Amino acid sequence: MLAQITAHPLHAPRTQCRCRALPARPAPARFLFFLCILLVAALLHPAHTLARDPAVLDGLALAQRGVSANLCALTFDDGPGQTTEALLNILRDKGVRGTFFVVGSRVHLYADVMKRLVAEGNEVGNHTFTHTSLRQRAPVEQLSEIARTNEELAKLGIVPRYLRPPYGRYDNATIDAAAAQSMTIALWSVDSRDWRKHDLFAMLPRKSFGVRGVRGVFLFHDNHRETVEAMPALIDRLAEAGCTFVTMSEYVETSGPLCLH
Ligand SMILES: [Zn+2]
Repeated sequence: MLAQITAHPLHAPRTQCRCRALPARPAPARFLFFLCILLVAALLHPAHTLARDPAVLDGLALAQRGVSANLCALTFDDGPGQTTEALLNILRDKGVRGTFFVVGSRVHLYADVMKRLVAEGNEVGNHTFTHTSLRQRAPVEQLSEIARTNEELAKLGIVPRYLRPPYGRYDNATIDAAAAQSMTIALWSVDSRDWRKHDLFAMLPRKSFGVRGVRGVFLFHDNHRETVEAMPALIDRLAEAGCTFVTMSEYVETSGPLCLH
């Protein structure tokens, strides 16, 4: 999958990977090298799983990024809502920008909040129009869910780059619909599970953050009051752990793929 990730324009690292130079191959190694090429070609075959599609940034693809700088992208789904503005106040006061995957049918209800959100440097993503599970829905319905949200955002001058399908559920039709709207599917690498009202701080020491420090694309929900209330202290803890806060686009564009030695 890594090979496909690097092949996609969005995955092209701006900074060079510090991979070591390969030593000259002795003649017997050529056979193994050829086998590796065949293996990579087999893995890239379209018959394999959706996660290998270059138009999808799934949890693994995202976890393989952000290593060198401990990049942390705070993402908030399901808004805009009654608590979104309070969250914006917190992000502003902390000097942190987030990424909001919004539900299209709610956008016109909070147009002013959306304008402020963008004006303060936050990013907006598409979370469908009615927050429905896209997987196994008719292709035309999927495209409608995505396109209607983009139309609502366009009224505010917002053009989202990423689609986050509700519940992380998608299929090939979702990939096609996103591509038709010039979008990439982007999931997350760290799930706060705030919708279960879990202790958000419990996720901090988990090994899933990687070998060195805390990093990743964090999934939160800005319509959960408990999430918003916990956010100031959570941002402080993440900063202490070494997080460099970025938007989703910045995370993808600047982090580059992990070098595997
Ligand atoms: Zn959602």
